[in-house]
Parts: sequence; structure tokens; C-alpha cells
Amino acid sequence: MDNNNRNKDPNHNRQGWGIILVTTLLVTFMVMGLYSMMRGSGPEEISYDKFLSMLEDKKVQEVNLSSDRIYITLTDEARQEEFEESGQAGNPGNVFSQLQEQMQSGGSAGSTDEDTGRNPDYYTGYVNDYTLVDKLDEAGVEFSREPADTLGQTLLELFITVILPIGLMAIMLVWLMRKMTKGGGMMGIGKSNAKMYMEKETGVTFQDVAGEDEAKESLQEVVDFLHNPGKYSGIGAKLPKGALLVGPPGTGKTLLAKAVAGEAKVPFFSLSGSAFVEMYVGVGASRVRDLFKQAQQQAPCIVFIDEIDAIGKTRDSSLGGNDEREQTLNQLLAEMDGFDTNKGLLILAATNRPEILDPALLRPGRFDRRIIVDKPDLKGRVEILKVHAKDVRMDESVDLEAIALATSGAVGSDLANMINEAAINAVKHGRQVVSQKDLFEAVEVVLVGKEKKDRIMSKEERRIVSYHEVGHALVTALQKNTEPVQKITIVPRTMGALGYVMQTPEEEKFLNTKKELEAMIVVALGGRAAEELVFDTVTTGAANDIEQATKIARAMITQYGMSERFGLMGLESIQNRYLDGRAVLNCGDATAGEIDEEVMKMLKAAYEEAKKLLAENRETLDKIAAFLIEKETITGKEFMKIFREVKGIPEPDEPEEGAPAEREGRISMKPAEDSRPAAGGE
Ligand code: ADP
Repeated sequence: MDNNNRNKDPNHNRQGWGIILVTTLLVTFMVMGLYSMMRGSGPEEISYDKFLSMLEDKKVQEVNLSSDRIYITLTDEARQEEFEESGQAGNPGNVFSQLQEQMQSGGSAGSTDEDTGRNPDYYTGYVNDYTLVDKLDEAGVEFSREPADTLGQTLLELFITVILPIGLMAIMLVWLMRKMTKGGGMMGIGKSNAKMYMEKETGVTFQDVAGEDEAKESLQEVVDFLHNPGKYSGIGAKLPKGALLVGPPGTGKTLLAKAVAGEAKVPFFSLSGSAFVEMYVGVGASRVRDLFKQAQQQAPCIVFIDEIDAIGKTRDSSLGGNDEREQTLNQLLAEMDGFDTNKGLLILAATNRPEILDPALLRPGRFDRRIIVDKPDLKGRVEILKVHAKDVRMDESVDLEAIALATSGAVGSDLANMINEAAINAVKHGRQVVSQKDLFEAVEVVLVGKEKKDRIMSKEERRIVSYHEVGHALVTALQKNTEPVQKITIVPRTMGALGYVMQTPEEEKFLNTKKELEAMIVVALGGRAAEELVFDTVTTGAANDIEQATKIARAMITQYGMSERFGLMGLESIQNRYLDGRAVLNCGDATAGEIDEEVMKMLKAAYEEAKKLLAENRETLDKIAAFLIEKETITGKEFMKIFREVKGIPEPDEPEEGAPAEREGRISMKPAEDSRPAAGGE
């Protein structure tokens, strides 16, 4: 979903924290400066020893005893002497004391001498010296003790170093909090329009959304209601407040929502659920309030909340639940209940994790309609390709149906992307129109990444990869129940593949038989089997295949009831169907161990089967692998030609019984009956 304002709020947040940081630093510097001025502007420290010698030399005029220091004021002559020695007047080495003296300002470090009106010149610490008073008497020095001043000084220090900074910080924080909760203002933290994206007219219609007929049908009703609210309310029918679009990413949920707005010719507001969630409690709720207020002012209109699961997650009562999210959700529920549908306000929300939504959100009167927007089937894919091919010039070689067949599992955004990639590819090669070859290349770019031309593999590696890929392809051709090979290549791709075999089904399938799944596992392990057979060693290249094979074997046992050991027991359930389809085991540990054993057994049998098939067809394997090393990429047709030649199978022009003829533009790879080995669970 496009949203031009999406990034505004993080900036506001940063701004908020920036202000706090700068203020803290300023206050700290101020306090440190003041403190050091206070401390540093006083008299200079001297040793007790020096003080005594000054006393003896009769240089001291007056002494002021504070609780922890002795402040010393020199006689005028002694001062003059010091000045001459150091070239400065008064307290040598201390410019501040001079200043202070001129200003006659007291109250900083040490107390001002009341008689002379002068600040002390030096100070020294206390030493356990009981004879000090005698010595002072002897030297004829005036001395005094002023506890009150010291207390005042301590209090002042306390105020400047502790109370003042804390006070300033508290004022700043209160100010910030008020800003956040009230919204608007300079930072606008709580303002929902900071994240909202609004289109007066989307210009999208249902015609732009291909496939998804059921979803469109359900939404058509809503459009009708937005056109004539009176028609429904007249009869007493309650109009829907919200609908939830559920489906995997990229299937056109946002597009559908826009199409509803476009069809109804009403404004379209959109924002993402995650935009509500902030670290400050209360901000999300205030955004929801703002959003509904604005939407109601603009009604009739459509509000689209993408990724509603970000705020709509089930509220949990466990300790440490997310208060902010819950408040936001509660506010959303309250607003949904509160608004008047007759104004023509409709809330559409999208999610790919419906199972985690709070049940309160799905109650009647809220998002009570659930519209499934699933991955498109073959027909849907053809239609989506057609919609996106409309604006692209294509030559007559293009067969969108073949592309749709090769892209089982692709969603609308993938297909739109493929058409665009194909067009870019055509331009890159200096052509004016897009050909079928461009489209197939684009399918590969989307599925396995771009060709990685700069990766140079050693001769030996190329041989290994070649045998590995031909291993897959040959095992495919040697078995029944497999999809035909479309292409074999050893050109590395950016998404990590060093080579791959592309298979295209002859028709779209919604069910897989047990035999097909078993054949898939054998095909997946065919690459590794070829490596072991030919090189007597194995490489890391099979990691992906192994993962794939294990996944299928596990699902057969735990989900499809296809193992004898466990029979029809459901051992796993799918967690999030619309995302990665991850499964969770719902059985005891002991059973989990047994499942692993069963998976291992299945994989081992499949691997042996693959090795056996390849060993029996070693000549074919060598020939095709050599051809692949030479050509780097071969088509399914070339592959089948060598396959048939070596095995002495006639070309399909004179098909044998049981071997389907090659259809136009597509390759039928079901091997003839007699070429199939007897084994393999058939
Ligand atoms: P979602 O919201 O489900 O993640 P989007 O609506 O954002 O998916 O789809 C992204 C893009 O994919 C759309 O802009 C559109 O170009 C394309 N697309 C997806 N589904 C369809 C469809 N059914 N028909 C036509 N185009 C589609």
C-alpha cells in the first residue's frame, strides 16, 4: 500500500526525544558551569604547613574558620609582596577573586571578611592541631567562626546541583506528556492524519481486480449500499459497518478496497494498523479517535486499515500485556460501535493472520463480514496477467495461459511484477514488444532471481552441478506422476541456486495423490543421488532439496494420513494458513520421536529409489549431463530428445499406446510405459 505520509510520526518521536536530550544536556552544562564558578572563583588552596609559616611570618591578618576549611586573609603588605612575586594583585593565580573583590560580592566560597570587606586569599584544610588557637593568638590574628554562612552555602549548592535540574526536567516532561496526549501542536504526536493517506478518487474499479470473483461479489453489495443508503435503511436493513479482507500478501486486498471506493465514487482513507501502535500509552487510542472524527466528517467514504492484526491481536490477560495496544483496540471497538452507518462510512480492514484477531473485533456490528481473497487459481492468474498485459505491447508468441500454468502459487503482485520484468527485459534487448521468452525469463527472475553472470564456477563444480540437475530431471522423466521438465540450467541465480530444473504442470491441480507426493520426494533427492553415484562423494548443494523432501514426507505423515504407522491421526495443524503455513505438532514427545523415525525411513527409501533409477540409466545421465555442461541451459524438448534416443523410444509423432502426444508449445514428459522401472511403489 502506498502511503506518502507514513514516515512522519517516527520523525515526531525523534524530535520529542531530541528535545528532551538537548534540554538535559543544557541543564547539566548550566549546573556544572554554575557549580564550577562557585567553587573555582574562591580562594586558592595552600598547605597547612604554608599557612603556619605565613602565621609565623605575620602575614596573616584574619582567619575564618568554617566547618571544613580555614579561610585566610593576608595583611595588605603580605598581599603586595605576593603580588610582586607573581605579578598579580591579590590572590595570585586567581582572577575571579580580583573580580569578586571589586564587586564586593560575598556568599560564594568562604565568607567575606566583614572588617576588611575583602574576600579571603587562601584556604586550607583542618589538621588536628590543638595549638592552632594559641598560635593565632600569638600571631595577633583575628579569628572567627561563622556556621550560618556554611549552612547557607550548602543549601545553595544543594539547590543548584539537585533541586534545580530535577525541577527543570520535571517541567519538560510534563510539557511533553501534555503534548502527546492532547495531540496536534508542534509535534502532533497524537494526530492521526500524520499517517493517513487519502485519495479523493481512487480511479480503481472492479475491472482492475482480476479473479477474486467471490470477493468482488460480496463487495458489490457494499458499493450498492454506499450508492443508495436509503434503499437499505428504508426497509429497515442494517448496513454493514466493516468487512475484513483475509488472504495472503499480494493477493489484491488493498486493490479491492480501493476498487470499492472507486466504484462507489467516495474518498478513500487508508492507513496501516501498525501506524497506531506507539510506545506512549494513549497515543494509539487518540489516533483512532481522530481517524473516526475525520472520516465521519468526510462521509460517505471508505476507511481502509491494512494489517489490522497489529492492533487487533487477541488481548491477553497475562501479566505484561501490551497496554497501549489494548487501549487502541478498545478505542477502535468503541468507535466501531458508535458511528452511524447511515452516513455511509465503511471500514475495510485487511489481514493475513485472521486467527490471531480478537473475537470482539469480529462480532456482529463490527468486522462481521469476512471476505476471503485467496491465491488465484489458473483462471485467476490468466485474468490477472491479462489485466496487467493490457498496457504492454506483446507479440503473437505470447501465451499467457502457459505462463499462468508455470506460476502455480504466484499471487497478483508477483504476476504484475513478472509482466513488468518482461517488459524491462525486452527494452534491455532493444526490442519493441514483449515475447514469450521474456515472460518466461521474468518468471524465473521472480522465482529464483536474476542470472548471476559474474559467478565463475570451476570446471569440477560445473560438472557436479550439471549431474545434480540432470539427476533431478532424469528421475522426473523416469517416474510416473511427475510434472514435465521445462528447462534445465546450470547458470547460477542471485537467490542462491547454482542451477535448477524448471517443471511445468500440464494442468492445474488442487489435489495431490500419495503416489505424486512420493515421486516428488524421489525427484527432490535425485540431485544428491546423482552426485553420490557419479562422484562417490556428496556436496552441500542438496540442502534445499533435503529440506523440501523432508517437508513433504513430514506432511504426508502428520497431516495427510498417508503413513501406515500413524494412519489417519492428525498430528500437526497449520498455524497461519495465509502466511508461511507453518505447522505445529499436537502430539506427545514420544510420538514426535516416532514421527521423526518414520520421516527418516521414508526419505531413506526415496533416496535408494532415486539412486537405483539413476544407476539403471547411467548412460542417459552421462549423455545429458555432458550436453548440459556444454550448453549451460537446455530445454525440456532437448532433454527429452536425448532421453528418447538413448533409451530407443520413438519420437512422439508416432506415439505408443499410453504415451501422450506432445501438445503444441508444451512438453509432455510422461515416459512410455516400457521405459519405467518396475519398482518405485507403482
Ligand atoms: P495486498 O493488499 O493483498 O497485500 P495489494 O492489493 O497491495 O495486495 O496488491 C499489490 C499489487 O498487485 C496491486 O497493486 C496490483 O498491481 C497487483 N494485484 C494483486 N492482486 C491483483 C488482482 N487480483 N488483479 C490485478 N492486480 C492484482
